[in-house]
Amino acid sequence: VKPSELVSASLERISATDDKVKAYLHVNGEQALQAAQEMDDNIPSDAGLLFGIPGALKDNMNTKGIPTTCASKILQNYVSAYDGTVVQKVRAAGAISVGKTNMDEFAMGSSGENSAFFPTRNPWDLERVPGGSSAGSAATVAAGQVLFSLGSDTGGSIRQPAAFTGVVGLKPTYGLVSRFGLVAFASSLDQIGPFTRTVEDNAIVLQAIAGHDPYDSTSANVSIPNYLEALTGDVKGLRIGLPKEYFDEGLDPAVREQVEKAIKTLEGLGAVFGEVSLPHSKYAVATYYLIAPAEASSNLARFDGVRYGVRAEADNLVEMYKKTRGEGFGEEVKRRIMLGTYALSSGYYDAYYLKAQQARTLIKQDFDNVFADYDIILSPTVPTTAFKFGEKADDPITMYLNDIYTIPVNLAGIPALSVPCGLANGLPVGLQLIGKAFDESTLLRVAHAFE
Ligand code: GLN
Repeated sequence: VKPSELVSASLERISATDDKVKAYLHVNGEQALQAAQEMDDNIPSDAGLLFGIPGALKDNMNTKGIPTTCASKILQNYVSAYDGTVVQKVRAAGAISVGKTNMDEFAMGSSGENSAFFPTRNPWDLERVPGGSSAGSAATVAAGQVLFSLGSDTGGSIRQPAAFTGVVGLKPTYGLVSRFGLVAFASSLDQIGPFTRTVEDNAIVLQAIAGHDPYDSTSANVSIPNYLEALTGDVKGLRIGLPKEYFDEGLDPAVREQVEKAIKTLEGLGAVFGEVSLPHSKYAVATYYLIAPAEASSNLARFDGVRYGVRAEADNLVEMYKKTRGEGFGEEVKRRIMLGTYALSSGYYDAYYLKAQQARTLIKQDFDNVFADYDIILSPTVPTTAFKFGEKADDPITMYLNDIYTIPVNLAGIPALSVPCGLANGLPVGLQLIGKAFDESTLLRVAHAFE
């Protein structure tokens, strides 16, 4: 098949299904088709596996000439002057982006309901959320509109929607994938990663986006393994830790059942299980909701009506700032800015921000301790299956607790993926595999053997 046929098929599927799913904020169909047609006649002899493959980008990744709104009113007219590193990298690998996907505003949320424009629906049940914040990136792959998409994960925003929509989602080790051109939410936690239908596809996309970038000072200078070669199917003797705190009362029994079935399958393949403890994980959500908003309050200070996006009419500068930010940001974004500003205030800094950093270290040390004896850690990705629209929307704390099993991983900076492991009440369940820093290969190998 030619690239243009693949892109046409993708665009047809989008027009047939996206009025229901609403995965896209922007579809650049003509431009994608044109790029594909140019590739049709110039297929290089060494074309890689992504050559001519249609994909999609979360709308917090800068794309030259194509809007980047972060699903926020404050950026609704913003067009970046450059392509982010991952955007350049997938293009260099031959992939073709067909559009920008919907998300919770500035990646703050777990349901997609915080988009300033419209919610994305879960293809499995249109009455339910697809998860968030990478709502559209998960839904578009689940709906068969594209073969892969990129999302970002600060506290679970790739893994949780992957679990809710029955696709594979990987959050790489902090520093493996460049953040240059990713609109920053919480810079010490954000990572870009792939959504795909299969683990093999995930390995292919990760291969294309991983690697050192001089434009991102937190990018790691490590050698990148061949992720496809890691998919040997062999998990014999692999030691897998089951953290008892991630199988607590909060876990939906129907989700637990599917995860336990997955454990049996892996046992059958020769993996060895043991119970482990991550005692400080219970502080992870509280720690995250100090650190992430603190960083967000600083990162979002740049949206002031002067340099980017929408500017409100006002008589003087201070009024202009207030009106622009007051009208431009949604409720959840304002809540985070206020939380973060408070946590960083003098007099409160030691009590909140500094304490949170100390707790973060303890959370990370728990993982180090377990990895002294185990190769990976296995848990459910989310305590529940996809919930209905509005179910958690007016209770931020309940919404925040949906990320209880994913947030500790970001605080520790380590990689984790979610792979589908069955259905509960007719809805997909995700299995989370957590690995040592820069050991994505083992995660992919286990997920592939299991899949
Ligand atoms: N749901 C979490 C939040 O609202 C995580 C979001 C994310 O990973 N970007 O902050």
